[in-house]
Amino acid sequence: MITDPVAMQQRILALKKNGKSIGVVPTMGALHEGHSTLIRQCSSECDVCVVTIFVNPTQFGPQEDFSNYPRDLENDAEIAIGAGADVIFNPGPEQIYPESFQTWVVPGELSEALCGKSRPGHFKGVATVVIKLLGITQPDKAYFGLKDYQQFRIIHQMVDDFNLPIQIVGAPTVREADGLAMSSRNAYLNEEEREAAVILNRSLKFAASSWDLQIRDADSLRSLVEDAIRHEKLADIEYVEVVDPISLKPIAGESDKALVAVAVRIGPARLIDNIILGKE
Ligand code: AMP
Repeated sequence: MITDPVAMQQRILALKKNGKSIGVVPTMGALHEGHSTLIRQCSSECDVCVVTIFVNPTQFGPQEDFSNYPRDLENDAEIAIGAGADVIFNPGPEQIYPESFQTWVVPGELSEALCGKSRPGHFKGVATVVIKLLGITQPDKAYFGLKDYQQFRIIHQMVDDFNLPIQIVGAPTVREADGLAMSSRNAYLNEEEREAAVILNRSLKFAASSWDLQIRDADSLRSLVEDAIRHEKLADIEYVEVVDPISLKPIAGESDKALVAVAVRIGPARLIDNIILGKE
């Protein structure tokens, strides 16, 4: 386990000198099977798989769950190594944000859509920590989950915009047996809330079935998903949106490809999920 950014960067530079390819999986810890799947993919595609574990304070709003966010470093290290991690980078906040720190990455329009509306500054924090982690770990490939689709798009755009020679890999969402997307925040749910949470995935599956039946109008898809979630009394909708998967702008009428994305509060947890409909 390495905590010092300079030591981490030196280790990577030495490995690269020896011709090793580097993959990185950035995480906030509280690792689950979703993370393990990313780590396994990284480990199978790169000579060296680095897993970063850092609960990034700058991506949490003042009313959000930064202090309660689940932390269990020992267990995380065991999971990461079991899934194929070669190096774990676990810096402290003062190492990532020393007092002298003053340069931020401010993403553009992509960060104003979907979760950006209710989480101002969130993606600025995400983009800034990710560019730092990419600078420290100098990877050939970086792995992100499509569960956080907007985050994936913003990072992809940042890497394009800044001409970084890094391949951003998006990995499919890993789900529990009943369809709930795995998330560290599922730990906040009690038994009843956990059962209710299945409505996110179920409602998105309704949208997929409608799409297959040629019901592809964005308003119809959105209403259908909204209605399904409204029937779950523990669910409080933050948004249901049907957007273009590249621009994240709302779709008017029909299209040949759509991202249906939802954010829903259930008890103490804010949960997100999405599905892409249409051609690859
Ligand atoms: P987090 O620790 O929640 O910040 O997530 C770290 C990485 O794991 C991000 O790229 C997430 O998108 C990804 N991830 C989290 N949950 C899942 C999941 N259920 N399936 C696939 N990837 C996931």
